[in-house]
Amino acid sequence: MQTIAHQHCFNHSQRMASARCPQCRRFFCKECITEHGGKVLCTTCLTQTALANPDKHSRWAVLIHSMQFIIGLWLLWIFFYYFAQILLLIPTSFHDGSLWQSGWWKG
Ligand SMILES: [Zn+2]
Ligand SMILES: [Zn+2]
Repeated sequence: MQTIAHQHCFNHSQRMASARCPQCRRFFCKECITEHGGKVLCTTCLTQTALANPDKHSRWAVLIHSMQFIIGLWLLWIFFYYFAQILLLIPTSFHDGSLWQSGWWKG
């Protein structure tokens, strides 16, 4: 029976293993192991899993990415819309510089 205590990372022979990949049964350090969909996998197995079912993964990724893009654009639009409203509230004299010549702050 192999225990994790005296195992070393498959990729880094100097480092102590912190987790074991349930798929390839190899030991890995914290850096080499990642969590994916509630499962802890090594990067090699994660890549293989992603390649094995790219259809399901990419369809969701495309949907989520397009949603993020739309939300991002919408937020940007709102931001610039209100920014423009604020700019419109400022009198024209502020923009053409005549406000600074009139010395309104002096009273
Ligand atoms: Zn693995
Ligand atoms: Zn490692």
